[in-house]
Amino acid sequence: MKRKLLLSVFFTCFIILLATLTVFATLPSTYGYYNFYTISGNMYTVQYEQNHLFPGQAQMLANYYYQYCPGAFDLSPATTEYNCHGYAWCESPDNTHYRLFDIDPFLNDSHTHQLTAAEVQVGDRIVYYGLDGNNGFTPLHSGVIAYVLSGNSFMVISKWGEGALYQHDYSDVPPDYYCDYNNSDLVYGFYRYDNMHSYSIFDPFDDTIHECRCGICGHMTFEEHNYVDFPDGMYCPDCGHVIQF
Ligand SMILES: [Zn+2]
Ligand SMILES: [Zn+2]
Repeated sequence: MKRKLLLSVFFTCFIILLATLTVFATLPSTYGYYNFYTISGNMYTVQYEQNHLFPGQAQMLANYYYQYCPGAFDLSPATTEYNCHGYAWCESPDNTHYRLFDIDPFLNDSHTHQLTAAEVQVGDRIVYYGLDGNNGFTPLHSGVIAYVLSGNSFMVISKWGEGALYQHDYSDVPPDYYCDYNNSDLVYGFYRYDNMHSYSIFDPFDDTIHECRCGICGHMTFEEHNYVDFPDGMYCPDCGHVIQF
């Protein structure tokens, strides 16, 4: 009886050890840097990282932001798993959020264009700028437009540093996102990133396929004709290609 108990204890320990080893073996291959591409093919690099806030740090961050923006409210907990740019620009099919440090691949994409305040719609992006020390501006912070209010005013959802995801008035952000910490200027721009190609269909004079070309970025793909019969043959209404019998 005693021997049986001892065996089962050993067995349980063995299983726990195995499970622990498995977890530690899979983590490093999950976290790291990954390259993805914008809709028109610009490469961007993201970091996928686990949360490394220590206990109590989330509350410290919440207190810090509250003193500047008591009107903002948090939508999900503080974490270092993702940052503001990653939340606003990366679209991940499995809803994984990333840390993205350089949004130029998105801003320079031919599918992105800058908007006037009057053109802004829900889902567009706002980018806050700081001085780059070279008489220019550099992106400091990104958010997504959640509501369009009257009078060119907007509610934004954005991730504040290592803190929480906040919903806030577009003008209600901590001093971290002001153009220059010593003054109160907010410098921002609105952008629409259209992540769908806008295809026009052309007849390449091939009986099997026609050509789809994006009018925005020039991306090309091919698909089979969409033939319909007519009395002496068939034709593709999408591109106009005709086969006479
Ligand atoms: Zn395109
Ligand atoms: Zn066709």
